Amino acid sequence: MALTHHLGFPRIGAKRELKFALESFWAQKITSTELNATATTLRSHHWQQQSGLDFTTVGDFSLYDQVLDMSFTLGNIPKRARFLEGDAIDHYFRVARGRSPKDKAESVIHAGEMTKWFDTNYHYIVPEFYNDTGFSLNASRLEAQIEEAQQHAPIDKIKPVIIGPATYLYLGKSKDGSNKLDRLEALLLVYKELLTTLKAKGIEWVQIDEPILVTELDQEWANALELAYHRLQGTGLNVLLATYFSDLQNNLRLACNLPVQGLHLDAVNAQHEVRAVVDWLPSHKVLSLGVINGRNIWKTPLTATLDWLEPVYQRLQERLWLAPSCSLLHVPVDLQNEEKLSSDIKSWLAFAVQKLEELKILSTALVHGRESVAIELNRNTQALVEREQSQRIHKPAVKAATQTIDTNFSQRGSVYAIRASKQQAKYRFPAFPTTTIGSFPQTAAIRQTRKQYKNQEISKNNYTKVMCEEIELSVREQERLNIDVLVHGEAERNDMVEYFGEQLQGYAFTEFAWVQSYGSRCVKPPIIYGDIVRENPMTVEWSQYAQSLTDKPMKGMLTGPVTLLNWSFVRDDQPRADTCRQLALAIRAEVQDLEAAGIGIIQIDEPALREGLPLKQKKWAEYLAWAVRSFQIAASGVSDETQIHTHMCYSEFNDIIQAIADLDADVITIETSRSDMELLDVFDEFNYPNGIGPGVYDIHTPNTPAVDQMVRLLQRAAKKIPAERLWVNPDCGLKTRTWGEAIPALKNMVKAAELLRQSIGDSGVIEELKKAHA
Ligand code: GLN
Ligand code: ZN
Repeated sequence: MALTHHLGFPRIGAKRELKFALESFWAQKITSTELNATATTLRSHHWQQQSGLDFTTVGDFSLYDQVLDMSFTLGNIPKRARFLEGDAIDHYFRVARGRSPKDKAESVIHAGEMTKWFDTNYHYIVPEFYNDTGFSLNASRLEAQIEEAQQHAPIDKIKPVIIGPATYLYLGKSKDGSNKLDRLEALLLVYKELLTTLKAKGIEWVQIDEPILVTELDQEWANALELAYHRLQGTGLNVLLATYFSDLQNNLRLACNLPVQGLHLDAVNAQHEVRAVVDWLPSHKVLSLGVINGRNIWKTPLTATLDWLEPVYQRLQERLWLAPSCSLLHVPVDLQNEEKLSSDIKSWLAFAVQKLEELKILSTALVHGRESVAIELNRNTQALVEREQSQRIHKPAVKAATQTIDTNFSQRGSVYAIRASKQQAKYRFPAFPTTTIGSFPQTAAIRQTRKQYKNQEISKNNYTKVMCEEIELSVREQERLNIDVLVHGEAERNDMVEYFGEQLQGYAFTEFAWVQSYGSRCVKPPIIYGDIVRENPMTVEWSQYAQSLTDKPMKGMLTGPVTLLNWSFVRDDQPRADTCRQLALAIRAEVQDLEAAGIGIIQIDEPALREGLPLKQKKWAEYLAWAVRSFQIAASGVSDETQIHTHMCYSEFNDIIQAIADLDADVITIETSRSDMELLDVFDEFNYPNGIGPGVYDIHTPNTPAVDQMVRLLQRAAKKIPAERLWVNPDCGLKTRTWGEAIPALKNMVKAAELLRQSIGDSGVIEELKKAHA
């Protein structure tokens, strides 16, 4: 026997049923009973889909977030929401999503803070801790789901999954500066009670997730893990300790030796550790190997997997379990629904349901020999061979082009100071030039037109005409507002990755491959399956048209190679760095075409640069090196006079400031308004050498920012950034705002820049300061 199980299944539904039910419930269009009925149906359906496995996993389903569920299970409800009235489900969503006051007597309840779950694009609600945080068990959610699952499996084959105490604490936030680890003992009492409760129900195995074991843990957290699992002994329940997303490295012995009954290792990302773990793991323990990639959408090479797995099985026999590498939450549900995907690409893919089938094939092959699944193995090999040889994937010209990239491709002609003075001579900007980040309000009319065009309900001419009208409208508004560097408004773009992906060879798009991002929000990352070819210019006509309408400079708007990569499912048959370089060459060509078409200012957005950072800090340098280089390749093919902007909508630059400087963009616009410009300190301390536009107002709120508030922020910024390099702009694009919100906000922003010019210097200031700096 090689028992099969999984660590978690997507809960949103193959057609996003949960999303739609949640949103209807929040809009008060359905009752909580109806919402719960949808949830029950989904769970039952998902259990049926995993029925060939040896364990039925329970507790992986959540109405909003599994970390928030854990907070409720442990009785750790944020203080601000603890005394709310109303029924349980309302309470739960209020903690997750906050609530605005219904009348003056009520106060606002802030939504729970969200942050990324390790290096995935899933966001969890951060647990909150105070020095007096206590815990009390509420196992009702788990108990109810165990009850339901018993219609699908006997109780001893039901495996609940919970987040481990160390990881739960680690991911939380101390709200009063107290040491979170001081809460550990109290927390463990509740965990122990939970395990005892599960055992009493007849559960045999529980999966406890401790993914912090793949991070670089310091001694106190290693001690916390030791303490936790010593305390949790003696309940009679078997504990499978689950780690995933990366290798264990320094924590390998710790993970092997904690007093539990089994360990799950991500054998996709830590295949090189399987041997050591087999050696170190005490002989009474089960080893669950994550042999199917739970993070990508590619078929598993089954034969190659068996080649290394068979010897492990021979050694471990029934002590070996098989599973996907991590929870399948991070992949779409079912490939079968993709009817429009071309059949060759489809034959290379596996979504959650297909991954479980692969798991069963592997297990059967181990136990009954490869002959017993010869047909399945052959089919798999054939698909892989076809993929390897496909002319849709491999373009010799692209491979040749990436090979010819030399250092000339990554450096601008001159250093920043020389470029800056040439650019200033050309554009003669006032001090503190104003601009925006790219998008203007995406009205219902715009979306409707794009949809009609996509569905071939209107002609290309018709579509182009409407988009040109939108461009003209935004140009006129910006002229009226007296903004210095204009944008065309991005009306033609549905999404900043999809827009480019649809025009690049090597990208495929799905209909239903949604992945949960947070709550009811999902993303549908496109698939990069092959070498990237840009056949035609992608943005030039729109930018050129926009420029023809005005004498002011028009900024061309592109998504950068690193963001195109990090927001897609990426091919696994070559290093990510190589794929990124191909994207960089495509964007480089676009940048050069924009320049040739008379667009002298070009923004290359990289909001996802930071997201690609590996979990372990010691691997950061390698990632940053190729990511930065890709940006440089994209940005460096233009003359000194052409001004390159970049934009990033986050604000933690402290640990990557060198890489940001290495991008060598002439201007970087960033998010800073909410932190009161404190985030500029790092640019100041680092002596960041190029132009910066710290966002002066938060575009996420509909409120109009006050002039004096923005002046104050700019004055603070001007203390940290030399005046001649300071730009004025919002935090991010304005696509989610209405025109009624965007115009007054921008009017105030321009006014703030004017006041600053009066108080700090007129437009001559730039030349003067430049001379002084030279
Ligand atoms: N140029 C894009 C916009 O304005 C940038 C979006 C982003 O930073 N995520 O919409
Ligand atoms: Zn942004």
